Amino acid sequence: MSTSTLTPDPDVPAPEPITEEAVPAVEEGVFSLELTQDQKDIRDWVHGFAADVVRPAAHEWDEKEQTPWPIIEEAAKIGLYGFEGLAQFFADPTGLTLPIVNEELFWGDAGIGMSIMGTGLAVASIFGQGTPEQIGEWIPRCFGTPDEVKVAAFCSSEPNAGSDVSAVRTRARFDEAAGEWVINGQKAWATNGGISDVHVVIATVDPELGSRGHAAFVVPMSEAQGISQGTKVSKHGLRASHTADVFLDDCRVPAAYVLGGKERLDERIARVREGKRSSSQAAMQTFEASRPTVGAQALGIARAAYEYALEYAKEREQFGRKIIENQAIAFTLARMKLEIEAARLLVWRASWMGRNGHRFENAEGSMSKLKAGEVAVWVSERAIQILGGNGYTREYPVERWHRDAKIYDIFEGTAEIQQLVIARAISGLQIR
Ligand SMILES: Cc1cc2nc3c(=O)[nH]c(=O)nc-3n(C[C@H](O)[C@H](O)[C@H](O)COP(=O)(O)OP(=O)(O)OC[C@H]3O[C@@H](n4cnc5c(N)ncnc54)[C@H](O)[C@@H]3O)c2cc1C
Repeated sequence: MSTSTLTPDPDVPAPEPITEEAVPAVEEGVFSLELTQDQKDIRDWVHGFAADVVRPAAHEWDEKEQTPWPIIEEAAKIGLYGFEGLAQFFADPTGLTLPIVNEELFWGDAGIGMSIMGTGLAVASIFGQGTPEQIGEWIPRCFGTPDEVKVAAFCSSEPNAGSDVSAVRTRARFDEAAGEWVINGQKAWATNGGISDVHVVIATVDPELGSRGHAAFVVPMSEAQGISQGTKVSKHGLRASHTADVFLDDCRVPAAYVLGGKERLDERIARVREGKRSSSQAAMQTFEASRPTVGAQALGIARAAYEYALEYAKEREQFGRKIIENQAIAFTLARMKLEIEAARLLVWRASWMGRNGHRFENAEGSMSKLKAGEVAVWVSERAIQILGGNGYTREYPVERWHRDAKIYDIFEGTAEIQQLVIARAISGLQIR
C-alpha cells in the first residue's frame, strides 16, 4: 500500500540521504513542523502528478474496476514508482516525506493511489524482516523497471484469519531432502494478489505457536509452481485497485526465500518453544510499521472531499445567498478542516517516531491510522451532504471518495482492532 513508514531493522543501515538539503536542521531539543525545501518540492511534484494525471483518470478506472497499468507506468517513468523513489522518500530522517507523498497521491485518487502504493506493504515486510541480501534482491524486483513495471502483494489474511492474525493456517514445511519450503493454504483479500511477481506470504511453520510460529516467505510467481490467483473481489470502493484470493498448492520455494533466513527462523522458533520471548511476529511487524502511511492515504481522501465541498459551498446559492453563508454549512466545513489537521498531526508524529526508531508505547501508529480513517469517512460523508443531491450521484466525485474512505476503517486492522491495540498499550492489560 503504501510505500510504508518502515521501522528500521537495527541490522540494516538506513539509506543515505540523497541530497544535503534533504537533511533538515534537526537539533537536539529543537521542535519544528516547518517543511524543508526538499519536502515542499517533493510534495508539489507529487501533487502535480495527482492533479494532472491521477485525478482526471479516477472516474474511468473506478468504473472499469481494473488496475491502471498505464498510470503506474507513468509514475515509474517520473520516478514516483520504483526503488529509487522509495529510497529517496525513506531517506528523509524526519519520516515526513512518505506520509506527504501518500497524502498528495491519494488526494488525486485512492484506487489509483493504491495501485501505485500497494506494492509498499510487501516492500515494508521485506525491508523490515529481510537480510541485507534479501532486501537488495527482492525490493527492486517488487517494482520491476520503468520499461517492465511490476507490482507486489503482501498476503497475510485468510478466509478465517482477518483481525485474528494468529489464526493463519497456511502452512510452510521444510523438505530437508530437496532443501525447499513447501507451502499450502489460501490467502484472502490480497491487494495485487495474483497479478504480482513477488508475493510475500505469511505462513506458519508451527501452528501450535500462534502468530509466534509465523514467518514471511517470498513467493515469486515467475519462478514458483503451485501459486495461483483465485477470485478477484468486486468492491464498494478502491475499485481501481486489484484485490483477490491467492492459492498455494504444494508451492515450493528455495530455503533462502524465508525472510530473515532459515537459520534465524530456526533459532527464533527454538526460543519460542523454550518459552522465551520472541520479538518477531511477521504480519504484525509489517502492519504496525505501515499504519501511519496508511493514515496519510486516508487524509488525502479527506482533504479532497473537504476542498471540493468548500468550493461548492462558496458557489451554490439557495434562498438568495451562498450556502456557505449559513452557519450550519460553514461550521461543518470548519470542523472538517479541524479534524483533517488534527489527524495529520497524529500521522506525522507516528511517522517521525517510526522513522527514528521510537517505540509506539501508546500505540501511536494505531492512533494515527484510526483517527485518519474515521476522519476520512466522516469528512467525505459530510461532503456528500454539502453537495446535496449532486453529492449522491456519480457525476460528482464525492460519493467515490466516501466509498474509498470506508476501507480505512477496515484494512490494516479494523477501527475496533486499533482501539484494542491502543487500549492494551495504555493499560498494560490483555483487554479482549
Ligand atoms: C480492499 C481490501 C484490501 C485488502 N488488502 C489486504 C492485503 O493486501 N493483504 C492482506 O493480508 N489483507 C488485506 N485485506 C484484508 C484486511 O486486512 C481484513 O479485511 C481486515 O483485517 C479485517 O478482517 P476481516 O475482513 O476478516 O474481518 P473480521 O476480522 O471478521 O472482523 C469483522 C468485524 O468484527 C470486528 N472484530 C473482530 N475481532 C474483534 C475483537 N476482538 N474486538 C472487537 N471487534 C472485533 C472487526 O473489527 C469487524 O468489525 C484487505 C481487505 C480489503 C477489503
